[in-house]
Amino acid sequence: MKIIVCVKQVPDTTEVKIDKETNTLIREGVPSILNPDDANALEQALTIKDTYDNVEITVLSMGPPQADVMLRECLAMGADNAILLTDRAFGGSDTWATSNAIAAAIKKIGNYDLILAGRQAIDGDTAQVGPQISEKLGIPQVTYVEDLEMNGKTLRVKRQLEDGYELIEVEMPVLLTAVKELNEPRHMYIDKIFDAYKKEIPFMTINDVDITTTEVGLKASPTRVFKSFTPEVKGKGVILEGTEKEVASKLVAELKQVHII
Ligand SMILES: Cc1cc2nc3c(=O)[nH]c(=O)nc-3n(C[C@H](O)[C@H](O)[C@H](O)COP(=O)(O)OP(=O)(O)OC[C@H]3O[C@@H](n4cnc5c(N)ncnc54)[C@H](O)[C@@H]3O)c2cc1C
Repeated sequence: MKIIVCVKQVPDTTEVKIDKETNTLIREGVPSILNPDDANALEQALTIKDTYDNVEITVLSMGPPQADVMLRECLAMGADNAILLTDRAFGGSDTWATSNAIAAAIKKIGNYDLILAGRQAIDGDTAQVGPQISEKLGIPQVTYVEDLEMNGKTLRVKRQLEDGYELIEVEMPVLLTAVKELNEPRHMYIDKIFDAYKKEIPFMTINDVDITTTEVGLKASPTRVFKSFTPEVKGKGVILEGTEKEVASKLVAELKQVHII
């Protein structure tokens, strides 16, 4: 069984710097980590590998060359292979262009049974890339996966909803996106850390996948960030004075005034 896990390197800080010229994120110099939901996706793949024979896990990331550090982390957790999809032509991609590139790389890797991604990346925060990849591959998707049972080629998936869950049966090949409730990601194995740092991480460029510059990068992206800014700090809080009853009626009045109730 072949599993591909899509992993993104994200800045480990809320103080993300922004390039004022291009209005894109500056990733250089900002401490980076494996996106938390992607760690859950990888853990699910590793659990399957722990349970069944002949499971091969490939982690795939699109990003700048320094994303190889995060991929090594994934190898040290137990992934078998890592591939970095990297090319200047991919720079500035929005979610449509990002998923075009990743789907093209997955087609190139081929023969997959299961694709796992995180629900959402903590920097872009859109939760769009997973579903878009599945559309471009023409395979079903189940998002917000919080539990999973495997029975041959059939998966029984528990999908998180706001007020409950859905149980969905789906045949592989399928793409699933993981939420943090799915599992507790394991730590890296010490012996695997050494191997992971010795390994060469293969990369793919635009020339290695079946895609053109009309489908990736800033120019090809249908959306463009034209302005980004730090949200203004909200005003100071107010402490209401009086007896409990007075405070309660003042609170109700205030909330009514701002149409919260
Ligand atoms: C309107 C808009 C315009 C944008 N324009 C630009 C721009 O001009 N320049 C720019 O640099 N960025 C831009 N971005 C950000 C860029 O689109 C995102 O970083 C990227 O598409 C991933 O989206 P996301 O972070 O929301 O991931 P999500 O959709 O939240 O990620 C979900 C999951 O998909 C997988 N995934 C996501 N990205 C990757 C990846 N790179 N490699 C492997 N797996 C991945 C992971 O498993 C992840 O958990 C833009 C975003 C938006 C919404």
